Amino acid sequence: MIDDILEIKPVLSQPKDVVIISHRNPDGDAIGSSLAMSDYLKSMGHFVKCILPSEYPENFEWMEGVESFMIYDLKPDSCLKAIQQADLIVCLDFNSLDRIDKMGVAVSENQKAFKFLMDHHLDPEPFADYYYCDDQSSSTCELVYRFISDMGHETEISDAMAEAIYTGIITDTGSFHHATNPLIFRMIGSLKERGLDDTSLQNNIFNNQTEKQMRLLGYCLSKRLVVKKEEGIGLVYLTRRDYQNFDIQRGDTEGIINHVLKIRDVKLAAFITAQPKIVKLSLRSKGEISVQALARDHFNGGGHFNASGGYMHSSLGNVIDKFWEFAPSYVK
Ligand code: 5GP
Ligand code: MN
Repeated sequence: MIDDILEIKPVLSQPKDVVIISHRNPDGDAIGSSLAMSDYLKSMGHFVKCILPSEYPENFEWMEGVESFMIYDLKPDSCLKAIQQADLIVCLDFNSLDRIDKMGVAVSENQKAFKFLMDHHLDPEPFADYYYCDDQSSSTCELVYRFISDMGHETEISDAMAEAIYTGIITDTGSFHHATNPLIFRMIGSLKERGLDDTSLQNNIFNNQTEKQMRLLGYCLSKRLVVKKEEGIGLVYLTRRDYQNFDIQRGDTEGIINHVLKIRDVKLAAFITAQPKIVKLSLRSKGEISVQALARDHFNGGGHFNASGGYMHSSLGNVIDKFWEFAPSYVK
């Protein structure tokens, strides 16, 4: 669902108080798309604030501009005030307002603001005035690039914007392993022609783990991995005690699930963790297996066909039991 660019051009033609919001537990795409859109809108003369529901992982501290993010968990009142005062609200990389917690209510209640949703998840919720949504897109960062091109400003993409866009595409496609399409290769080609230093970005993104993160990965694979070969399913779980013992912080568990999917016999992978208030699930699959359906039908969640997530208010043991009860029927 991509609305006509002519509908948004007049909205952007006058300076506005803009708030850009992305999702909880922000990943490279949430952070990259926010930073690139922020720089773009600032270059058009708008006043822009970027808000995230929760903090970004330390692994992204190298990105230009991240220090200016407002974090709802740290300063809820100033974030809500910014949303109330905004006359343009740009929502990036999520498809329904419940993904941004209490800020979702503030977004609904601000009747004067023009609402712009840019996203690549399935089934965007109808809350916006303008949609730039495509579930065939690799990432929201790809959509940012396409949007800027549609606006006629492709050549004005700055180095910092290019780096932010590249980071979102690389992280959301797992380094071009999935969710790829011909367009992203052309985009990256044209960014490279204009000087993008992808080698050093690759180092920043991937060769940037802490020793603790690597040891945690080892622990997960040696002590917390369950593979049911006959079902084609692999699962890694972490208990509350694991969180304490390893002093696990935001971002430390990023990417662990991808290692489960590397196993030849695994077609559906799960990473189930006991968080302070909820049990969180991350789900990944190969080929024609919809983890989006599994997350939606049984775990209050959703996402993409091959990468989804959800949560439950229950014990870790119950959630793992429920997972083994329902997941096998989704593996064809
Ligand atoms: P991750 O496993 O990396 O946390 O999330 C993978 C995908 O699933 C993301 O695209 C994210 O939007 C989606 N997702 C993760 N958790 C939830 C959730 O609780 N609800 C919904 N609707 N989507 C989720
Ligand atoms: Mn994304």
